[in-house]
Amino acid sequence: MKRDIKLIGLDLDGTVLTDDKRITERTRIVLETAAEKGVTVMTATGRPLNAISPEFLSLKGVRYLMASNGAVIYDREQKKIIHRVCLSFEQAREIFRRAEAFDAWKEICIDGVSYTSRESFEKLEEYIPEGPTRKYLLESRVPVDNLPAMISDNRELLEKVCLFFPTTQARDIAKEAFADMPEDRPGAFNQALMELGELICLPNGAAKCGECPLAGICFAEREGLVKELPFRSKAKERAVEDRTILILASENRVFIRTRENKGLLAGLCELPSVKGRLSASDARRAAADMGLCPAEIEALPEAKHVFSHIEWRMTGFLIWVDEPGPEWDNKEGLIPAGIEELKNEYPIPSAFRFYMEIIESVLKKADNKE
Ligand code: SF4
Repeated sequence: MKRDIKLIGLDLDGTVLTDDKRITERTRIVLETAAEKGVTVMTATGRPLNAISPEFLSLKGVRYLMASNGAVIYDREQKKIIHRVCLSFEQAREIFRRAEAFDAWKEICIDGVSYTSRESFEKLEEYIPEGPTRKYLLESRVPVDNLPAMISDNRELLEKVCLFFPTTQARDIAKEAFADMPEDRPGAFNQALMELGELICLPNGAAKCGECPLAGICFAEREGLVKELPFRSKAKERAVEDRTILILASENRVFIRTRENKGLLAGLCELPSVKGRLSASDARRAAADMGLCPAEIEALPEAKHVFSHIEWRMTGFLIWVDEPGPEWDNKEGLIPAGIEELKNEYPIPSAFRFYMEIIESVLKKADNKE
């Protein structure tokens, strides 16, 4: 029997898009031919509106965009959202309260944009070490310091909340705990779980089963596996890397740069730095190699930042440089930024927090002098 197809709704990731997030020529031809014959082509994706693949948008005949798992439908012809079903403020807040004790990538989609906690964003490599999905998340998510505050400030536009867990086992444990959580006191339940792990059910066979409120229902105790459970995979040895941070200041700005789109803190802004512990004269030379003309230099205290697999032991220098002229060969792609730009346009990862505090005080002094 011939069917009269009016509309095709398509998921993107794992359906229309290949593993490397592209659309094959064959898929393009099929969808554009369908559109030419009068079939309406539409997405039906979990992506927020602002993260719908430009390649999909370039297909001829795509009219509707159903995004955020169905929370919104955008009509490209009328150029407006024609359907929106949002989470209530209470629902979104409740999900975050319940997820508090769990190690998960937490994000919320508000009016077509996905925001993630800065803490999650900086640990992305623990969830997705590499590949196109990691690149997609880095390019499409906006890191923010206070997700609960964003929920409170955007109560009418909360499209969806997402929690991604590092392993399927962690996700399943969280699901079970969510199901058991008392509706009226999720905070107390989370706190109890955390305290149980910190004070009673200690790893390496030191568990205090005699004092434990769960002793009667505990699988490990019943089966004599207290020494084996919870099983912890062997922690990877953490590498240590020395780095010298260069605060390159000129008048009331400092020079920052963008990291490569792969590896640690991929694609984020950073303070220029050099591997190893430089002497003051080497630090000056490094600034000159960046095409800058260094003047005064001051050694800064040491600081440390621990990532999951690497530890940075940092030292630093504050180097005042002359304002570069138009002939400056900016081969490092340095970006001059004042206090406000650092706060609003170029957020610097917390790994540099110690030196960012120094920058803030140095730039404030420079501003006051003006
Ligand atoms: S009874 Fe179970 S949960 Fe309680 S301390 Fe012992 S092993 Fe841990």
